Amino acid sequence: ELPRQHHQVLLFPSPGAGHLIPLVELARRLAVDHSLPVTIVTLSGMSDPATDAAVLSSLPATVATASLPAVSLEDLSPDIGFGTLMFELVRRSLPHLRALIMATTTTAALVCDFFGTAALPLSTELGVQGYVFFPNSFAMISIMRHIVKLHGNGDVVDGAPGEEYHDLPDPLPLPGGLLLRHADLPDGFRDSTDPVYAYLVEEARRYGHADGFLVNSFEEMETAMAEEFKRDAKDGAFPPVYPVGPFVRSSSSGKESDESACLEWLDRQPEDSVVYVSFGTGGALSVEQTAELAAGLETSGHRFLWVVRMPSLDGNPCALGKVPGDEDDPLAWLPEGFLERTKGRGLAVAAWAPQVRVLEHRATAAFVSHCGWNSTLESVAAGVPMVAWPLYAEQKMNAAVLTEVTGVALRPAARGDGMVASEEIAAAVREVMDGEKGSAVRRRARELRDAAAWAWSPEGSSRRALGEVAGKWKGALGNTKGTIA
Ligand code: UDP
Repeated sequence: ELPRQHHQVLLFPSPGAGHLIPLVELARRLAVDHSLPVTIVTLSGMSDPATDAAVLSSLPATVATASLPAVSLEDLSPDIGFGTLMFELVRRSLPHLRALIMATTTTAALVCDFFGTAALPLSTELGVQGYVFFPNSFAMISIMRHIVKLHGNGDVVDGAPGEEYHDLPDPLPLPGGLLLRHADLPDGFRDSTDPVYAYLVEEARRYGHADGFLVNSFEEMETAMAEEFKRDAKDGAFPPVYPVGPFVRSSSSGKESDESACLEWLDRQPEDSVVYVSFGTGGALSVEQTAELAAGLETSGHRFLWVVRMPSLDGNPCALGKVPGDEDDPLAWLPEGFLERTKGRGLAVAAWAPQVRVLEHRATAAFVSHCGWNSTLESVAAGVPMVAWPLYAEQKMNAAVLTEVTGVALRPAARGDGMVASEEIAAAVREVMDGEKGSAVRRRARELRDAAAWAWSPEGSSRRALGEVAGKWKGALGNTKGTIA
């Protein structure tokens, strides 16, 4: 039951608020800055409808939304992995997406994200421009291109059954001289026998057929990589990649009372004195690691605001999808006496803080972060240097980029068993706050803050890049390319 109108640019996010949020931001900018008619098409089945609705409610009224009918994933084994499930959900939803595009009078472009490129052949078939939105870095696209180098572009064997997969080289050289260690590759990329690897190969092979990419980064953040992609687009070696970031929400949503408690506490702290500690929406430390972090913060002597989440009891640092019970109190897992001993200079809050506002606060000086890309961009946009403490997904690669390329983070060493000892934590916090090595990191953070602000200023690089893409889509509408009779 879809209206035969106003579906001109279709944004097709993969499931989960983390994937929806940046596309909502893209939709807002396309609608408000470029007067493009935009529809966000969501999938059903793998994300919480209430959370999705809350995220979508921030859209301007001119942006339409549509939801595809649910498809069955019941035949798949539950331990097949989150990524694989997401790829499968997209694939199985394609007939519904096809029907939706057919039901609209004019569609200029279809924009999918990392998990959604199975929709690209559909855009080719229907004469619609096909774009991929990357919510993370240029580095991530680089890795996907390496996969194609290793396996060919699939013209001969497209995901052929029994195809042999190869491990990426160790270290993996990335543009700009970064040698990415095998251990720092994103999850799913470290082992070619992992079932998700076959999906990654197939995804990567589709990239060459995209009309273009949008990436939530900006030129100064990954200069050498941005330049290499520019050269390759000119030579026709790869579709154009438009850096349109950073997309930073103007404020974060959460429980009102917690929000004001954090901000009121920060208001009472001296300027540039507080270390903000958070591991994103899914990061979970073991009980032992929580104790080391507490001891490290305590011995550092600095003020801190720590967003404490329920510890991981099964060794998995990713708690996404685990819903804490009402009676769960993360603060109860902190070491005995810690809160009393640090009273006055430390605030521990359960589960959630209004992060964007915390990072922008004048009292906040540094961020101990899991290096999720949104957190990273929020920190950079606020000029806050980081202590990189990556846990899962592509966070270790982000940490490598931030420490070795961008220069806005220090990374404490982990022991052989993966544990970061309290002395390492205290040393990294002291260094980033007032050490000599830390001063270069603090200076870079200020430079990048200015560069990020410039990227979205009237003549800035990201604003211009999005304008260029919007122009192409408008042109396509004018030419009625994509009109389906
Ligand atoms: N966030 C927040 N308060 C919290 C934890 C997270 O506002 O206590 C927000 C944060 O500002 C960011 C997002 O949630 O926009 C987390 O995204 P990111 O990519 O950093 O990490 P993920 O949660 O996907 O691992």
